[in-house]
Amino acid sequence: MDGLYAIVSSATKQTLYQFMKDEDISLLNYHFSHYFHFCIQINNIQVIPHHFSSHKIEGLTVVDELGISFSYERDNPKVKQNFTLCHELGHFILKHDGSYFAESVDNQEDILEREANIFSAMVLMPDIVLLSKIYYSCHTFHQVQNSLEVSNQALFYRLLDFLREYYSDNEGEVTQAIESYIEGKNASIFRLFHNIKDKIIEEFHQFQPSLINQVKQRVRKVGFVTSQEYPSLLNQDNWKAIKDNNGNLKTWLVYNKGKAIAYVWDKEKFSDEEARKKAELQLLLM
Ligand SMILES: [Zn+2]
Repeated sequence: MDGLYAIVSSATKQTLYQFMKDEDISLLNYHFSHYFHFCIQINNIQVIPHHFSSHKIEGLTVVDELGISFSYERDNPKVKQNFTLCHELGHFILKHDGSYFAESVDNQEDILEREANIFSAMVLMPDIVLLSKIYYSCHTFHQVQNSLEVSNQALFYRLLDFLREYYSDNEGEVTQAIESYIEGKNASIFRLFHNIKDKIIEEFHQFQPSLINQVKQRVRKVGFVTSQEYPSLLNQDNWKAIKDNNGNLKTWLVYNKGKAIAYVWDKEKFSDEEARKKAELQLLLM
C-alpha cells in the first residue's frame, strides 16, 4: 500500500478530531453531517442538488466570483450523495489547487481524486467511531452501515484500508475478518480491533478542545465556571471570544485583597446576582 492513505488520513484527523473534541460530539451518535454542516457554514459554501445529463458525473465543485459551490446528483441514492458531498469537501479542506472538480467514473485514479476519496471515507467513518461501534458496542455490519449512512461497499473498503494500515503483513486475515463480520461472525474482527484499540484511542485523545470550547462545554453542562478551573480566564483577552461564540454567556471578575476570580456564566441558568455570589464565595475560600 502506498503512503497516500496514511498522509491523507492523518491530515483529515487533524481537522475532524479537533472538531469532534471542540464540539464534544458523542462517538456513538456521530454522523458526518455535523462536521459537514459546520464546514460549509463557516466557509460559506453552497450545496446544490443537480441533475447532470451525463450519467458519468456524480458531483461538482465550482469556485468562481460567486463563491464556492458543491453540486451532487439528486437522483443518486442517499449513501452515494453523502460520499460525493464529503468528497467535494475533501477538495476544499485539503486545499486542492483548482477552481473546478468534476467527479466522473473516468477520473477516479487521479491523485487528487484519490485523496478526496480517502478524506470522504474518513469523515463518513472515522477510526474512533468504528472502534466504538464495532468493538465496544458490538454493532453489526448493517447497523454501522445504516447509522453512518454509507453503502455496503464504502464500509467494506473503509474497514479494509483502516485495518491493513495496522496489519500490513497480514492482508489475508484482514479481508477474512471483514467478510466474517459481514456474515454476523465478529470474533476475528474483535481480535484485530483489540490489539490496536489503545493506539486509536490515544490518537484521538491527542486532540483537546481549545480553551474557549472547554469553557463552552463546561458552562453548557453546569452553567457556571471560574478561573479556579480555567486559570486563563483571568486574561481578559479571552473574554471576547467566549462571549462572541454564544450570546448566552457572560463574563466578569471579582477581587479582594489582591486575589481575583474571573467567571463565566450562562444567563439562562443564573442571574448576574447569583453568579456574582457564587464567585464571591469561591474568592472567600481561596
Ligand atoms: Zn473530485
